[in-house]
Amino acid sequence: MEDGKPVWAPHPTDGFQLGTIVDIGADSLTIEPLKQKGKTFLAPVNQVFPAEDDVNKHVEDNCSLMYLNEATLLNNIRVRYSKDKIYTFVANILIAVNPYYDIPKLYSSETIKQYRGRSLGTLPPHVYAIADKAYRDMKVLKMSQSIVVSGESGAGKTENTKFVLRYLTTSYGTGQDIDERIVEANPLLEAFGNAKTVRNNNSSRFGKFVEIHFNEKNAVVGGFVSHYLLEKSRICRQSPEERNYHIFYRLCAGASEDIRQKFHLGSPDTFRYLNRGCTRFFASKDTDKQILQNRKSPEHMKSGPLKDPLLDDHGDFNRMCVAMKKIGLDDTEKLDLFRVVAGVLHLGNVDFEEAGSTSGGCTIKNQSSQTLEHCAELLGLEEEDLRVSLTTRVMLTTAGGAKGTVIKVPLKVEQANNARDALAKAVYSRLFDHVVTRVNQCFPFDSSANFIGVLDIAGFEYFEHNSFEQFCINYCNEKLQQFFNERILKEEQELYQREGLGVNEVHYVDNQDCIDLVEGKLVGILDILDEENRLPQPSDQHFTDTVHSKHKDHFRLTVPRKSKLAVHRNVRDDEGFIVRHFAGAVCYETTKFVEKNNDALHMSLECLVSESKDRFIRDLFENSNNSKDMKQKAGKLSFISVGNKFKRILWIRVKSPGMVSVLDLMQGGFPSRAPFHELYNMYEKYMPPKLTRLDPRLFCKALFKALGLNENDYKFGLTKVFFRPGKVRLLQHLKTIDS
Ligand code: ADP
Ligand code: MG
Repeated sequence: MEDGKPVWAPHPTDGFQLGTIVDIGADSLTIEPLKQKGKTFLAPVNQVFPAEDDVNKHVEDNCSLMYLNEATLLNNIRVRYSKDKIYTFVANILIAVNPYYDIPKLYSSETIKQYRGRSLGTLPPHVYAIADKAYRDMKVLKMSQSIVVSGESGAGKTENTKFVLRYLTTSYGTGQDIDERIVEANPLLEAFGNAKTVRNNNSSRFGKFVEIHFNEKNAVVGGFVSHYLLEKSRICRQSPEERNYHIFYRLCAGASEDIRQKFHLGSPDTFRYLNRGCTRFFASKDTDKQILQNRKSPEHMKSGPLKDPLLDDHGDFNRMCVAMKKIGLDDTEKLDLFRVVAGVLHLGNVDFEEAGSTSGGCTIKNQSSQTLEHCAELLGLEEEDLRVSLTTRVMLTTAGGAKGTVIKVPLKVEQANNARDALAKAVYSRLFDHVVTRVNQCFPFDSSANFIGVLDIAGFEYFEHNSFEQFCINYCNEKLQQFFNERILKEEQELYQREGLGVNEVHYVDNQDCIDLVEGKLVGILDILDEENRLPQPSDQHFTDTVHSKHKDHFRLTVPRKSKLAVHRNVRDDEGFIVRHFAGAVCYETTKFVEKNNDALHMSLECLVSESKDRFIRDLFENSNNSKDMKQKAGKLSFISVGNKFKRILWIRVKSPGMVSVLDLMQGGFPSRAPFHELYNMYEKYMPPKLTRLDPRLFCKALFKALGLNENDYKFGLTKVFFRPGKVRLLQHLKTIDS
């Protein structure tokens, strides 16, 4: 790097800038930027990287770069992005950049046809190439495969997941409507599980694992969706400029006059659960403007101040209805769904006030009486029963020796508000479970040989204010990172060892301690929180104090400084904690952790809805093994066991500490490899008979000699030959072997 060749040095806003090294200090370098001659600055040695000779050139696989490092990788991706080439490989990991507009023909049916059956690397990088590789591996190895999609919110995970599903069903379906149903299930799931956030107008607020099942002949036979962790707090409250789940607005905007009357629907502004998030809408970000340009103008909207100009709720309602029809939902089922959605909205409008008596309890406000009536009607309840259940709590008493007497304890206004919201969350999340179950019935299969799974979960989240939702999501990602460490990094190293390559060990940051901090028995944050929830008077403050006292000198946990927390709000300094995640430190505000961790309904409400006159509502609460479910802490994710099912993973992610470890490994290692026997089979026909009598290993040695390959560019293992980054191209055709 010292010979005056350009290097990448840190830049305060652009990440990296080109410059040359003009002086070398003990642990820093003096850099002169190419664009600002004379304006030298100091940069730490480990943050300066060699640049490629031609920084405007780009390569399809980052491993083909002469110097593979963070800066050259980012530059390569940037140059490609500017040419609408949003996909780039790092060996068989795919990096995708969200273009925020529809790149012509990128996903056309012609493109789908092109990728069919083609090995990784023979065509430009594409999510279709990953999908096809998963398919071919499934076929050859006779083993289920999984594709893990990872990245921050808005990175394009869900869109790419959909492209994978469409690719597989189009290429390897049987041409029956099951293929279309698998694709059409998405609009329905998204209507109930996606919402507008500050990061993404169509943000998935649940994680999912979609399996496409194949028969013995490797043709699509059906699908199955598992979902994790629907964000429940959103049902009752949203952050400024965010919205509740799409379905609420779509129903208000798109329902026919008939339904509107029947379900007593009005504009979104009239519902509490919809008017406490977005107060005004404007195209504030460039990305939003682009999205806006891509959308047809929604002038036919039934609008109000809560109409988001970027979202076409009316058009989306119609599209959703078409999707429902395609996957086989009849009108009755559709109305069942809508009725519950409307019921939740009316429930949210029930208001309480202090009762004028000495009971200390509350009553439902007069203005809310019609609301209560509508809610009861839509949920199939007796109005009086609902009133009593919302304002009192049933308790079993042993007082006065009368064992097991049931008494009704009046609720305070605040408690009644909580009871109402808990009921709304329970009803809506059951409804969402039902939607997923119903979707699964649309593509049933009797038996399957293997499946290809696609995991799409929320990526690492770090906002200005982070609460329980971010805590759960980031914990998920911490688990995923561990899985990634173990599967990719550890396995790669073990392979090098097995093959006797003598390559240096790559050190990655083991995040087990962070995972233990969250999920450890008794002392883990989740267990401490559960313990708090079981106390007679749980409090966020006491919970926070316990966390800090149990982990005083924990490397991963610190007390937030005043500046982080107390500036905007009137909170105590330490009302929260900072967790040092693999992807960075996040400060969590613990206000409402206790409440958000508790989904339990008062017994009386639980009984009330499970005895609804409405068969559909009754089934929602009957069919689930709810008590176990509900009490399961929100953070304990069933997805973890799914993680263990993954056989092979393909990873789509942009710069993160995880990616950097991969780069180190690739740079110091041998990212491309091919088994001797495969090379033998491939080149045998071009070789003189004398050579083909050799065993495959010797054959390859001879072959490489004959081709004049440089011995530093490859290494022979016990069963495979390994190539240095970018050197695989030396062997023509070799790219068709992707192992
Ligand atoms: P994530 O699931 O990672 O939060 P999404 O997949 O929902 O992000 O992407 C957010 C938005 O970005 C999408 O609604 C879409 O408008 C746009 N987008 C993402 N990927 C692409 C793509 N490949 N081409 C065009 N637009 C895209
Ligand atoms: Mg998503």
